[in-house]
Amino acid sequence: MNITLIQSLINLLSVLFLALGIKGLSKVRSAREANRLAAFAMFLSVIGLLFYYLGTNGITQQSWLWIIVGSLIGSLFGAILAKKVPMTSMPETVALFNGCGGMSSLLVALGVVFFQKNQSLIQDLSISVSIFVGAITFSGSIIAMAKLQGWLSTPSWTQNRVRHLINVSIAIISLIAFINLLQSSDSSTIWLLVISSTVLGIGVTLPIGGADMPVVISLLNSYSGIAAAAAGFVVESQLLIVAGAMVGAAGLILTQVMCKGMNRSLISVLFGGTLASKSEKSSGGGEYTNITSCSVEECALTLEAANKVIIVPGYGLAVAQAQHTLREVAKILEQNEIEVCYAIHPVAGRMPGHMNVLLAEADVPYEQLKEMDIVNPDFPAADVVLVLGANDVVNPQAKSDKNSPLYGMPVLDVQEARTVFVIKRGMSAGYSGIKNDLFDLPNTSMVFGDAKKVLSELMSELKELGVGAK
Ligand code: NDP
Repeated sequence: MNITLIQSLINLLSVLFLALGIKGLSKVRSAREANRLAAFAMFLSVIGLLFYYLGTNGITQQSWLWIIVGSLIGSLFGAILAKKVPMTSMPETVALFNGCGGMSSLLVALGVVFFQKNQSLIQDLSISVSIFVGAITFSGSIIAMAKLQGWLSTPSWTQNRVRHLINVSIAIISLIAFINLLQSSDSSTIWLLVISSTVLGIGVTLPIGGADMPVVISLLNSYSGIAAAAAGFVVESQLLIVAGAMVGAAGLILTQVMCKGMNRSLISVLFGGTLASKSEKSSGGGEYTNITSCSVEECALTLEAANKVIIVPGYGLAVAQAQHTLREVAKILEQNEIEVCYAIHPVAGRMPGHMNVLLAEADVPYEQLKEMDIVNPDFPAADVVLVLGANDVVNPQAKSDKNSPLYGMPVLDVQEARTVFVIKRGMSAGYSGIKNDLFDLPNTSMVFGDAKKVLSELMSELKELGVGAK
């Protein structure tokens, strides 16, 4: 069997495993295995490529050194990052990885255009696309990461309409450089395209902030796939083309899902004003006037008498790492024949699917997780809603106040329940930085404290009341 055939077979297997991996990610139950399968597919593809070059003697001894040392450093960096990064910092990490993907495609294209002469028209076109999309992805992702990390806020001048003029001007410069690069690959044109595309990535991402960030991250994820697919054409790697196209398409679908979750069109995210972000803390409707707080004991007594309880997890639950304690509390309630389910908002937490992953970690039965559209009609029939570290996703302002920065975003209608307990440490705002009208409502009681601590106390109180012993 010749080497090309073996490599094609390895490529085919890699693509198959990658496709199965992506498919498996759509279900919480199979996600972990699917992730491993997709990682194995990537490993296989690298082996396939090395095998090919080994057979054709296309790798010099010096290149091996680069490959081995580079792979070791990269793998070590990835492994340490994966172990150390808390789940709550995942969006920043994803943004960083997207940026790395964009940069790799950019570097591959630069390597070919500088060191390999006589490119075909397809290669010229792919090089231009790789540089353009790769540079936008790289700079945009780094800006997104810095904003999510809290290192960068949205400068007020970027909310001015003049920014559209600036971005359009930079886009025109990029377009001119792009077209010129198709005709001649002189270094000034290449660098013009690199610089203008990098600035465009910054110019487009910088004004976006607050609750629109999930959409931007998904979009940049899609861009990194497109850049990789273009790089695949540059180096004539079918595998990279297929893998890049899959990531690009998956990212676009995710972007659409996130837009739907936020009730925002992609155009309004990219070109509209920003939703207020933490750093911009808009007042969002003034001071609180009617806050009622209660003790854990009162909360336990109300829960004891309930028939139906809906739990709303949010970012604070992930911060407190209280998912396992929550599961224990839910088990106690269920033993008392209280119906329990979890209301999952599509943008709760800090990454798509954050709450699903968090609750799956604590072995919460998948069928108890209810998507927003399914669970919203259930709230009027609920005796108690436990809001755990959630804020923006339960803010009724999104439906009632046209001036609110959250207006239009679909939210969980928790205020329809008989009693709402909000468990959080204080009166801090959520990610969007605005006041939450839910906290002022007469059927809402605040239970102040760290989610894990409050849930542990709640568990003890329920046990003391004999709940769960039935
Ligand atoms: P929010 O960010 O709106 O609110 C979280 C709340 O948790 C805070 O008000 C905080 O209040 C509380 N909290 C923090 N730590 C603890 C703790 N240890 N114990 C108890 N409470 C705690 O969270 P939501 O999940 O409601 O909303 C997600 C927001 O993030 C949305 O605006 C969404 O657009 C945005 N976003 C989502 C992304 C995604 O992909 N899902 C990505 C990026 C942004 P206090 O400090 O008083 O305790």
